Amino acid sequence: MNRMKITFLSRSENEVFARNVVAAFALPLEPTLSELSDVKTAVSEAVTNCIVHAYEGDEDWVSIECQTEGNKLHIVVTDSGKGIEDVARALTPFYTTCPGEERSGMGFTIMQTFMNEFHVTSQPGKGTRVEMAKCFGGTAEANAR
Ligand code: ATP
Ligand code: MG
Repeated sequence: MNRMKITFLSRSENEVFARNVVAAFALPLEPTLSELSDVKTAVSEAVTNCIVHAYEGDEDWVSIECQTEGNKLHIVVTDSGKGIEDVARALTPFYTTCPGEERSGMGFTIMQTFMNEFHVTSQPGKGTRVEMAKCFGGTAEANAR
């Protein structure tokens, strides 16, 4: 079991920073390029949501905590921004509160598709927590054994 924690400002250049840090942390688990790319995409989407939605362009703290468990990587992305009133609705494909701003409403759907586990909790006015996990080198079922 290995763990790490990073906190950074919600600036757009930190999306690349964050996804590469998580990818570097995952390397000892020997992910395939495709698995690593899935993780990077999911982290990018979660961090972009913090930058765009949680803080609406203001600069504030975004945190990522990672933990390895066998060949599984757990990732938790948290912000203390505006939160989400209706999480179930926000998870709906193509749902976005920013139509016309080049947002397609697919970020959560992408995270859900690319990761083996995905869970969002949010408190309006307090912030949002996105928990995800990815199993490397096999199916989720095989890795659960
Ligand atoms: P895309 O990700 O395709 O650019 P999007 O960000 O609108 O578009 P999702 O990532 O699926 O789509 O998010 C859906 C909606 O959930 C957002 O439009 C926003 O209202 C809300 N949301 C997502 N993440 C957060 C967050 N961290 N804080 C507050 N609201 C959020
Ligand atoms: Mg998004």
